[in-house]
Amino acid sequence: RTVYVNGAYVPENEAKVSVFDRGFLFGDGIYEVAAVLGSKLIDFPAHMARLHRSADELGMRFTVSDDELLAIHRELVSRNNVDEGMVYLQMTRGAIDRDFLFDTEKLTPTLVLFTQSRPLIDTATAKNGLKIISIPDLRWGRCDIKTVQLLYPSLGKMEAKSRGADDAWMVRDGMVTEGTSNNAFIVTREGSIVTRPLSNSILPGITRAALMTYAAKSGTKIEEREFSIEEARDAAEAFITSASVFVGPVISIDGVELSGGKPGPVTLALRKTYIEESLTRAV
Ligand code: PMP
Repeated sequence: RTVYVNGAYVPENEAKVSVFDRGFLFGDGIYEVAAVLGSKLIDFPAHMARLHRSADELGMRFTVSDDELLAIHRELVSRNNVDEGMVYLQMTRGAIDRDFLFDTEKLTPTLVLFTQSRPLIDTATAKNGLKIISIPDLRWGRCDIKTVQLLYPSLGKMEAKSRGADDAWMVRDGMVTEGTSNNAFIVTREGSIVTRPLSNSILPGITRAALMTYAAKSGTKIEEREFSIEEARDAAEAFITSASVFVGPVISIDGVELSGGKPGPVTLALRKTYIEESLTRAV
């Protein structure tokens, strides 16, 4: 594959980043993942808007224009012949001799992008659904910023796997915050969808926002409120949203089956709506 590093397109085995990069030493970096369908980018403007917000929240310099970012995404999709998959973008504060204190103005952000080709529509997850376990949410207090500090989510997914499940939902004060790398939704017996309101406790998911817009348009009732893990286990259906999964059916939570242990009808309809609507907006 060809990857992009600080202005250059290079073969992946020749790409280099400094050992003094603050992304590497301090987790001082932010990222975005945009899905690719039919070689086009899904929800692209929203992903770039969130990247700007993450940089602003951390006081990180932003040295590349949105037009350049779009051009780099397109160039990598083209060079690597990505039909279905994703583009990963990471921006760190830059490289400088190790010190907790930093002078942002003296640092040039490091920008790295690469692609991954893989099926996103016809997947085992979409067909069979996901088994979820719940774990305590032990992350820091700014989960609304998309930083590369992904150790806890990574360990959470490992724990899910070791317990025969596919992923974990995190719980704080009895209430579900979000999935390890996705936003959490439940479907009530009345057919409305419930998801936690935005705050510092969750990432403002791009797929979450787009799906809520499309769901509202198609007449689905949306309740933006906190819900407990007990309410989730007792829900008619549950699902996750993320850029790489779109809408992923949840078929069990902590071993309790939902919607008869198969993807639920409301979830599958929303998945179809999301894919159709986002394809019409792909760039
Ligand atoms: N929450 C967390 C913690 C995530 O890591 C992600 C995916 N990066 C999401 C939610 C979903 O966000 P998006 O729909 O923008 O991919």
